[in-house]
Amino acid sequence: MDFETKCVHGGCTSSADQYKALSYPIYQTASFAHASFGSSTGFDYTRESNPTRERLEHTVASLEEAAGAVAFSSGMAAISTVMELFRPGDHFIIEQDLYGGSIRLFHTICEKNGLTFTYASFSSDDIESMIRPSTKALYVETPTNPMMKVVDIRRLADIAHRHGLLLIIDNTFLSPYFQKPLTLGADIVVHSGTKYLGGHNDTIAGFAAASSLEIVEHLHETAMSIGSVLAPFDSWLILRGIQTLAIRLERAEKNAMQIALWLKEQPCIKNVYYPGLPEHPGYAIMKKQASGFGAMVSFRTDSRETAIHILNHVKLISFAESLGGTESLITYPLTQTHADVPEDMRRKSGIDDTLLRLSVGIESAENLIDDLASALPLSKI
Ligand SMILES: *Cc1c(COP(=O)(O)O)cnc(C)c1O
Repeated sequence: MDFETKCVHGGCTSSADQYKALSYPIYQTASFAHASFGSSTGFDYTRESNPTRERLEHTVASLEEAAGAVAFSSGMAAISTVMELFRPGDHFIIEQDLYGGSIRLFHTICEKNGLTFTYASFSSDDIESMIRPSTKALYVETPTNPMMKVVDIRRLADIAHRHGLLLIIDNTFLSPYFQKPLTLGADIVVHSGTKYLGGHNDTIAGFAAASSLEIVEHLHETAMSIGSVLAPFDSWLILRGIQTLAIRLERAEKNAMQIALWLKEQPCIKNVYYPGLPEHPGYAIMKKQASGFGAMVSFRTDSRETAIHILNHVKLISFAESLGGTESLITYPLTQTHADVPEDMRRKSGIDDTLLRLSVGIESAENLIDDLASALPLSKI
């Protein structure tokens, strides 16, 4: 079954519902009754499993070409549950340009629990020389957030497996429509389902998918024990969002390319970070490992004043955190997504007061460009 078909049909050809409802039912129940002692329908209690959530998990597993997937109450719930697979003393090498919330989680809760971290630039540092006897996993986003740096997943998987480590990839920015890290050798993929998978900025969700059934089962058990699972109604919303994943991303990417090219021409815009531009250092790797470039565009303005002026004057584009929805959003990473990242790390990554991050939606590209144009300071055009 092709990807677009799996998005619509969840990887199944018929509805499991007895009435053949086209929309998969929301099993809004906490518990399931038993016909007799020792019997079960396969579902007992929703923290453990729920048919709507299970349908969603099968869909995401099939899109990521995973052995299985687990749906969580948020992206951070997914990532923190993945970190529960490890023990005190375990060491990780982490891309330093990451979603700020992930860095906050590692820095505070995971370190308190005895895990240790080395932050690196996976696109320029010698990762192999940082591996210690206690190292258990490499953790990256590609493209990274917000600098859009690209790492070669296959090369990283080779390094990881040569040393007996797991490779964990946060695939939120591209979604499985454009990139399937497990097929490139990654062991675990995590997602903020809030973003492209949900796609409508109307709910919070997360996923972890893995290439080994053993890891999937361990994740299921951990999620059930912690209780970090996704509710039935939210599962249904994400299932509905996924139906249009392919066409939303096609359109958003087309818009992003047009906007990136336009931004490059503006005198008050200094750098445009979009991996779909041939001059982007990650362009060739993206061509090799992904089927598209996504719809996230970061850019640097000539001054803090210009950046703030744009944030204050966009009308169609909302000045808001998050990404991956139908509507376009503009973010100021310094005070929003990356506010809790230690300053030296922010500086190393290049997150300063001139950096803006745009999540390009599926509106008309012309309207979006007009909106950005009218938000530029008049003196700078
Ligand atoms: C938003 C985001 C997260 C966190 O997901 P939530 O659903 O907000 O908990 C993790 N990684 C990336 C890349 C994100 O953009």
